[in-house]
Amino acid sequence: MFELTKAQEERAMRLHNEAIVVDTHCDTLGHFLRQSWERRPPRKLGERSDQGHIDLPRLVEGGVTCQTFAMYTGNKAIVPEATLRALKMVDVFYSEIQANEGIVSVTTPSEIVAAKEEGKATGLLSMEGAEPLMGDIDLLRVFYKLGVRMLSFAWNYRTPFADGLNAKRAESKLPDLGVQALEEMGRFGMVFDVSHLSDSNFWDVTDLMKGPFIASHSNCRDVCDHPRNLTNDMIRALADHMGVMGMNFAPAFVAKENATVENVVDHIDHIVDLVGPDYVGLGSDFDGIGQTPVGLEDVSKMPNITRVLVKREYSDDDILNILGRNHMRVFKEVLR
Ligand SMILES: [Zn+2]
Repeated sequence: MFELTKAQEERAMRLHNEAIVVDTHCDTLGHFLRQSWERRPPRKLGERSDQGHIDLPRLVEGGVTCQTFAMYTGNKAIVPEATLRALKMVDVFYSEIQANEGIVSVTTPSEIVAAKEEGKATGLLSMEGAEPLMGDIDLLRVFYKLGVRMLSFAWNYRTPFADGLNAKRAESKLPDLGVQALEEMGRFGMVFDVSHLSDSNFWDVTDLMKGPFIASHSNCRDVCDHPRNLTNDMIRALADHMGVMGMNFAPAFVAKENATVENVVDHIDHIVDLVGPDYVGLGSDFDGIGQTPVGLEDVSKMPNITRVLVKREYSDDDILNILGRNHMRVFKEVLR
């Protein structure tokens, strides 16, 4: 697939081991819950599986320091079932992490740094789509108290907080509730995530927000034309806010066909050319995607990203920034 010299391979491994590697999106929590329609028992964080993409043994092998675990509830209607499912995901997030020595749950960047020093992985809890909040801002406070530190207002549908991609209305503005929630998140210290947001709501958010926000799992529309990816103007606006976008490994967002790890790095190259190396990171979408690019079959293959960055002669600093320091900068700014 790609050939490295011995010196390049050693440099890639040294950098990958030294790095705080941050992945801002996966859908693994759902796989820890028992589904009535599934014949297989749910997966366990501590047990290496030949299914899906993330468990602790593979996180360790992939050298990931901070894995964000998203609560995705996928209900089109605003119904209590979404809240119930989110609460079960909070429970399984903590119970799976507490059952394992090698990983701790975190809510601050200093806890991530401390865990790295102890050789442990970390899990950060996020919510993908505000359906579980049931249009009630009080529940935002409740989920914050439960440890949620990253939130997107909508998946592809409309919620009382925002329009998702498939629910867009021309010139639509963020609803008052979304504006209020953004202010509240700023007060608490919670990272705002624009992935899945409609384009018009994205622009409203950039007008409203002063500080950084992230696109936890979105690529470049200029490289792969998909509505889930960001346009060049959006990438510039995100960089103006000192935000970061996490590269998504879903083949449909990476390349028109036969996506590979090198195609993922093409998106990194594009962002670096456009705005510089300080605004891009990783947001795999592992366990939320069926197919994966060649060379990124599961999280244990994460070092292949570093290998391609080395092969393309990125500097040590740029590689460490892309692997996680850029996201850590946002966490330091927002989380407290
Ligand atoms: Zn998603």
